[in-house]
Amino acid sequence: MKLKPETLEDLISFRKSLHANPEVSGDESSTAASLATHLQNLKPTHILRGRDCHGLIAVFDSGNPGKTIVFRAELDALPITETSDFQHKSLVEGVSHKCGHDGHSTILLGLAHCLMEHPPEKGKVVLLFQPAEETGEGAAAMLKESFFQELKPDLIFGLHNLPGYPMHQLLIKDGAFTASVSSLVIKLKGKTAHAAEPENGINPAQAVAEILLQMQLWSDNRPEEDEFQLITPVHVELGSIAYGVSAGAAELRFTLRTWTQSQMQGLQDQIKEFLKRIKDAHQLGVDFYYTEEFKATHNLPEAVNSIRLAGMQLGLNLKEREQPFKWGEDFGLFTQHFKGAFFGLGAGENQPALHHPDYDFPDEIIPTGISIFYEIYRQHLGP
Ligand SMILES: [Zn+2]
Ligand SMILES: [Zn+2]
Repeated sequence: MKLKPETLEDLISFRKSLHANPEVSGDESSTAASLATHLQNLKPTHILRGRDCHGLIAVFDSGNPGKTIVFRAELDALPITETSDFQHKSLVEGVSHKCGHDGHSTILLGLAHCLMEHPPEKGKVVLLFQPAEETGEGAAAMLKESFFQELKPDLIFGLHNLPGYPMHQLLIKDGAFTASVSSLVIKLKGKTAHAAEPENGINPAQAVAEILLQMQLWSDNRPEEDEFQLITPVHVELGSIAYGVSAGAAELRFTLRTWTQSQMQGLQDQIKEFLKRIKDAHQLGVDFYYTEEFKATHNLPEAVNSIRLAGMQLGLNLKEREQPFKWGEDFGLFTQHFKGAFFGLGAGENQPALHHPDYDFPDEIIPTGISIFYEIYRQHLGP
């Protein structure tokens, strides 16, 4: 599939317009509207917008029986101040596209161009633009939309650009591809007292120390092992800066990472038990909850094979990963419900890392991303 030079030029300027006008997770109304307008010109069978979220889908339906193949991109930017000074730099204070979701959305728009020219002969193709990837809420919101419940995808595919890898390299792996990630908030409630008389209060300091130590003991940062289980302390607060007061409350925050959902469940069960013991031993109020949960991405080998074939067809540099990635990806939730696979697309070895203030999506890989998706489409439904 070769894009016309003027089409590619249009796509790049569209990518730059998204980059200049970023919106954070859950707030992607203009991004969604702009995509809907551009998609409309490419004559999909229909476009459906989310009722309760900013997500949307564009459907290219052959009208004939066949598989439903879904390709997914993300809409949201991050609350990060951009430090770059190029022409398309973010116009929104404190917000910028530092994960390349502007590029991923543009790749799907490019795929829509190809589908307009070569529509499916059987089944249907669904282009899915999900909101709120960064907070791990958008995939769940899409699954709740009524149009999604009628969709019944046979296969779902997604990609992420990956700085630090050669440009256009295709990174694949069967089974676990990204970690299960969950953020834990623990709130301890004791009782303040005069700092000269801590015995009259309940100071949670000892419990804080025990929790930090236990989490450290449970953490096993060896990604080469199946039982990899990483617990990272991200924030701790105890009492306040008042020298006359013995602390009466504390808050601890951690991120947890495992390779599978069942390992995550096991770890969370252990933590629950442990916090019950802390509560009893220290007479503290203990509340805890999980937030920003990303389900592990599980790549179905047949779907990975489809990506592998596409890469071979296109003569791409293929890299079979031995270990999953330690980051979380909201796409994981889709793979818990449907068959599918996620892959990495090299964004250049010297490219600034994702979520860094000087990162920018490299437009050179737009045609590569489109071609990979298009080849996958052709294998299953195409002309
Ligand atoms: Zn990100
Ligand atoms: Zn991302």
